[in-house]
Amino acid sequence: MELDKMDENDWRYHGEGNKSLVVSHVQLSKVLRLLKYPAEDSENPPQTAEQAFRQIQNIVDFSSNVMSRLLGDKFIHSGEVVKLPLEFVRQLSIKVQPQRPAWRCDKVMDIYSGCALCLPNLTAPSLLQHSHTPPLCVEIKPKCGFLPSAKHISRDIKSKVCRFCMHQHYKVSSGRWKRRSLYCPLDLFSGSRARMHFAVRQLIEEPQNNFKIFKGGQCIYSSKEGGSGDEDSSDLNSLLYHLRPYFLYANNRIHAHVSGKAVLSDFIQVLVNALLNSGGGGGGGVTTDRREEGRTYCEASVFNKERSRHGSQGLPHDSVLSRILNTQMLDSLNIEGLYPLYRRVEQHLRDFPKERNALQVDGPYNEAFLEHLQKCPAEDDGSLDFAVSKVHQYRVAMTAKDCSIMVALVPGADDEHDEDQDVLCPQRRLRDFLSSRPPTFSYSVSILDLDPKPLDSIPLQLSLDHKIVSCYTRTLAAAV
Ligand code: ATP
Ligand code: MG
Ligand code: ZN
Ligand code: MG
Repeated sequence: MELDKMDENDWRYHGEGNKSLVVSHVQLSKVLRLLKYPAEDSENPPQTAEQAFRQIQNIVDFSSNVMSRLLGDKFIHSGEVVKLPLEFVRQLSIKVQPQRPAWRCDKVMDIYSGCALCLPNLTAPSLLQHSHTPPLCVEIKPKCGFLPSAKHISRDIKSKVCRFCMHQHYKVSSGRWKRRSLYCPLDLFSGSRARMHFAVRQLIEEPQNNFKIFKGGQCIYSSKEGGSGDEDSSDLNSLLYHLRPYFLYANNRIHAHVSGKAVLSDFIQVLVNALLNSGGGGGGGVTTDRREEGRTYCEASVFNKERSRHGSQGLPHDSVLSRILNTQMLDSLNIEGLYPLYRRVEQHLRDFPKERNALQVDGPYNEAFLEHLQKCPAEDDGSLDFAVSKVHQYRVAMTAKDCSIMVALVPGADDEHDEDQDVLCPQRRLRDFLSSRPPTFSYSVSILDLDPKPLDSIPLQLSLDHKIVSCYTRTLAAAV
């Protein structure tokens, strides 16, 4: 990829979040992630090109020096900042505009700075392309997987019902989504196969912005409301149409017709296996057992409570979910307990604005930043140092609550010596049919979207927390 010879025809719209828009290269396994601004600032960018460059460099540094150390570098691709020709960026923005979902168009792509983050395309992993069958990639935005400790919270309900489940009521009542999702992060992070299976089933049912499936680099399943604009994109039948060839001849299926339910169940099983085995270390212990703290079950989850008492083994040590959960749990005080410490930092910065750099609240995100948050004293000694350390920890936890997991699955690629790796090829079908083996997939797991959250977002988090909890308690009161 030559940066001075960029052609918008080599790139296509790939997806977007709240903060950035992503385009993928049509041949190379690369994406460009561009910043977005509120549409009202479109004539007047909120920052200079230098500031945009710094912002993206901060993202790279935060990902490589901080998040990758906490989450495990094998999961993380931090990418690099690139300077693109402005004409290319303008043409690109015109080209992708018609593909953007309407509800995301309150923001526009940054066409002024020419800066972008270049990353490997995790939905078209080049390493796995030795198979003829396009890889299936599943993106999960798991959100927060634990309940806050009762010590720091003012409303009892927060230690019983998880943030995601409460937030669903708020999102529906504010019109953000039409229907509630019955996904509960505590089920996904439970380590119990049955609960995880149930959680993924709910993500499929109501993907919102927590679940997407890509085939050969193209999104084939996402939320209808918030997704690709394609009317069929969250149609279960169309998903089954795509999945069926990958799962047809496994498990000794005598009948030519395999039910949709069985296909879906196999698919979820493969995904859950990848999530549990992603540590790569082979077995080992389980993470901190949270059962004693009584913080592993959310009262709003529809997963049968009795069943959930059995078999919650905890997550395998080093699995991707366990790494993410442990990083999320750096938020040990909850926003309510953290807020006074934020105020302590803020007051200090008001008195001594020049110390902003020394305290590294806007970076640089280097070794020293990581050390500061890792060497936090156990008790509050009333110092600024303690407050800064806790604020750093909280911001890192916020990033871990907002990241996505990408699981790339390639069928049969573990049979490295086989010629016929294509799942659709007749020899392989026959062989699998005769040997009645379960579908085998090789997988690779990555974590994406690891941007630092700004210090200023902390007061917003507190007010959002109030709104979500009040809305939930009102809903509960109305239901009785
Ligand atoms: P959010 O609103 O979740 O914070 P964001 O604006 O920070 O999102 P990302 O989540 O990084 O943006 O990217 C938006 C989407 O683009 C992702 O959900 C994913 O589908 C896709 N994407 C991002 N990075 C990659 C990558 N390296 N490879 C493939 N797809 C990617
Ligand atoms: Mg995202
Ligand atoms: Zn829940
Ligand atoms: Mg993000």
